[in-house]
Amino acid sequence: MALAVTSSSTAISGSSFSRSGASSDPKAVQICSLRLSDRTHVATLSQRRFSMKSQNAESHSRSESWVTRASTLIAPEVEEKEGDVEDFEQLAKKLEDASPLEIMDKALTKFGSEIAIAFSGAEDVALIEYARLTGKPFRVFSLDTGRLNPETYRLFDAVEKQYGIRIEYMFPDAVEVQGLVRNKGLFSFYEDGHQECCRVRKVRPLRRALKGLKAWITGQRKDQSPGTRSEIPIVQVDPVFEGLDGGVGSLVKWNPLANVEGADVWSFLRTMDVPVNALHAQGYVSIGCEPCTRPVLPGQHEREGRWWWEDAKAKECGLHKGNIKEEDGAADLTPAIVQDIFESNNVVSLSRGGIENLLKLGNRKEPWLVVLYAPWCPFCQAMEASYLELAEKLAVKGVKVAKFRADGDQKEFAKQELQLGSFPTILLFPKSASRAIKYPSEHRDVDSVMSFVNLLR
Ligand code: SF4
Repeated sequence: MALAVTSSSTAISGSSFSRSGASSDPKAVQICSLRLSDRTHVATLSQRRFSMKSQNAESHSRSESWVTRASTLIAPEVEEKEGDVEDFEQLAKKLEDASPLEIMDKALTKFGSEIAIAFSGAEDVALIEYARLTGKPFRVFSLDTGRLNPETYRLFDAVEKQYGIRIEYMFPDAVEVQGLVRNKGLFSFYEDGHQECCRVRKVRPLRRALKGLKAWITGQRKDQSPGTRSEIPIVQVDPVFEGLDGGVGSLVKWNPLANVEGADVWSFLRTMDVPVNALHAQGYVSIGCEPCTRPVLPGQHEREGRWWWEDAKAKECGLHKGNIKEEDGAADLTPAIVQDIFESNNVVSLSRGGIENLLKLGNRKEPWLVVLYAPWCPFCQAMEASYLELAEKLAVKGVKVAKFRADGDQKEFAKQELQLGSFPTILLFPKSASRAIKYPSEHRDVDSVMSFVNLLR
């Protein structure tokens, strides 16, 4: 369904940016003067169209959500003719073969001081080097989750010195972090999944940062995660976050490295003598928070070093959750009316009474494999295909395969009685033992689960 947005627009007049390197003005984006227009425009979001115009003068008060801009900038003039509406889907196609430098230049030219590079402290430092090479002023922000490695803080410092900039750090809300840690401890993500902690320490600060911008630049690449990043466009209207003007479609996301291979990023960093995170020399590839990042072995995919206790195909912290194909409501990982999953004749759907019976039986006629799931959970969705294939294979071996929806009202029971930690949890009820055995690995591919069943059934 096409969604039409109608709004009155505000044109941004050029030549109105001032150089104010040591500015302490918390309303950094307000340094441009505004010329109000009562023209209206209609943007059809299904066509991924985005207007550069501000929606109204009131929206600029939202820039208060953005922290004091610390980088020293001379912002270029942003020329926009009234009525211009950019089609970013078309632009992405045009830029498909462009170099990262060309893409960066285009992004900075189009958005001036209203765009910023999101820097994680890993090899996305390449973005900063590309920005420098354009010769244009640029802004950089970073999320300080409070759980980063010391090496990452050192890199932030080295980058600030090398490029003569101040990174605009975003911090989580102290009260929210306090609530999470006091209620659930410092490492709740190992038990409950990483989304809750990431939401507090990363996603909400990011949302605040983006509310002060019209566009952002990320270091996402297609080869980083086959499950979630294989279709990243060069540029897109951000499918998840809102920008300065507010509302769906008010933010543009640039991914200049989308088509670049990891090895080529590294050649570039070496050639240009760019400072890099010391953790890379210790085997770390993808780098995030200290408790959720580990080195990978040669041959392992880089994302295997992130949230390794969770499903390999759906590893997004929420910053790029638009990459995960999900039903409405799954974005916040809250239960909603969504289509059920694991639908097959080979998978028995267990009621609460059914699984209680299974628990009570000491001697079962046949072994049972049961997945505890929530249909809105992206990790459950990611393992659906392999679980259905497994069910087909196990049907001929006399193993019953089942599912039990364990969210909502059933969650407490599942936690108490069924060893539910995070979704999905897989249990094997062996033929002759009364206790269910929890599948302990995050590798939920057919072969791994099959050997677990064969060894223990
Ligand atoms: Fe929390 Fe780990 Fe996410 Fe960092 S990566 S915010 S520590 S769950």
